[in-house]
Parts: sequence; structure tokens; C-alpha cells
Amino acid sequence: MAEDKKILVRIKRQAGPDQPSRWEEFSLQWRPHMNVIACLIDIAETPVTRSGQKTTPVSYEANCLEEVCGACAMVINGRSRQACSALVDQLEQPIQLEPLSKFPLVRDLAVDRSKMFYNLKRMRCWVPVDGTYAIGPGPRISPERQQVAYWLSRCIMCGNCLEVCPKVNENSDFVGAAILNQVRLFNMHPTGQLHAHERLQAVRGIGGVQDCDNAQNCVKACPKNIPLTESNNDVNRQAIRDALIGWIFR
Ligand code: SF4
Repeated sequence: MAEDKKILVRIKRQAGPDQPSRWEEFSLQWRPHMNVIACLIDIAETPVTRSGQKTTPVSYEANCLEEVCGACAMVINGRSRQACSALVDQLEQPIQLEPLSKFPLVRDLAVDRSKMFYNLKRMRCWVPVDGTYAIGPGPRISPERQQVAYWLSRCIMCGNCLEVCPKVNENSDFVGAAILNQVRLFNMHPTGQLHAHERLQAVRGIGGVQDCDNAQNCVKACPKNIPLTESNNDVNRQAIRDALIGWIFR
């Protein structure tokens, strides 16, 4: 009977970055249409393990619950993905939850993804518009270009593409596919193009596009279906062309 159906959830717990980790199991009441976040909310309401031991609510990040904010990325049954779109009925049990491993741990399932935002700054992923409001609207963008840019702009900075990338590790400064994709996006923008050379210079530097080994895990892990390998290749081509132009003309 559905009323008696239980969900078994196994969670890797860790009180802090320097604390030892442990696993805790929870038996939860099944309800229709539950996702992993619903399980974590249930645990927070009654933080008692499967064996009846009192514990603390699990720390995790979540916000929009509709795969837009990117906050709830975690490793679910060995796969890096968003907890909000991970439906209980589609998961094998026990449902095993672990934090992303490529980012510093904060506590339990919460990690610090600020290195992504630092790398966006490092690769100059923005369009400078300060002081331009008085000179009227910017150049028009063709619908064809808008179509391409729209797909690139869907990135939610979840970090799944970094989690699955073998080149993102403690021995490497590789910025990862999400950041290279943003370089492509901003270089496509008619105003952003004015600073393409600076972005491409940064991309040729430490941790840039040359560090990509084309494992292509990123494109499979991206919840927004962004053509990441295409973006990596495109940025690589742009970086080479920009360097050649520099050698010849600058
Ligand atoms: Fe997440 Fe995809 Fe953006 Fe990577 S490119 S951060 S997987 S949305």
C-alpha cells in the first residue's frame, strides 16, 4: 500500500571540512511526486536515523526548486546532478547523497562554489556598460545569433560540469567548461566583442582552454543541455586566431 511505502536515504555527513565523515541512513514516508529536496525537508522536520538515533538536520543548499538557481547540485547515486529535479520514484534505493567533491566542503551536502565566480572574474566574463546609458541602445543582434546565445546563457552555475571533469582537480587550475562557455557567450555579444581580446588573453593563461583534454563528461552532466564541447572548441579556435593576429599585427 502507498501509505506504508518507505524511502531509504543514505547521506554522507560531515560537520565541517576538517571533521571526520560518516554515513547516516533515514527511512522516510513515501508521498507521490517527491524529489530529493522533499526528503531532506522531511529529515529536517524529524532528524532521527533509521536506527532511531536523534541527529541534526542535514545541511544543503537549495533555492528555486525548479532547476534555475543551480544551488542544490550534489552527487545522487553516484551521479552529479540537481536535487530538485531528482525524483524519488526514478531513483534506485537506497538513495545515496554525497556533496560535490571538486569544491571545498562547508558541511554535509553544502559546498563552497565561489571558485566558479572567481574564475568568471578571472576570464573577464562580463560586458562593461557603465557610462553607456546616455549613448542610446546598443547594436541589434540577429535572431540567429540570439538563438545560439540563448542556449549558452542558460548556465545556472551549478558546477556539475566541473564535478565530472577529470582536469578539475587539486593539482590543476583549469577553470572548467562553464566558464569557457561564458567567454564564448560574452565574445558573441556585439558590445562584449570589444573586450574579446582581453578575454582570450586570459583564456590562454593559467588554467585556460589549453588545459581541456576533451573528456566530454561536461556536456553529458549539464542539466541545461548547453553545448559545452562546442563552446570549448570555439573558444580554443578564437584564442589561437587572436594569438596569430597578435603576432602578425600587434
Ligand atoms: Fe551547470 Fe551546465 Fe552551467 Fe556547467 S555549464 S555550471 S553543468 S549549467
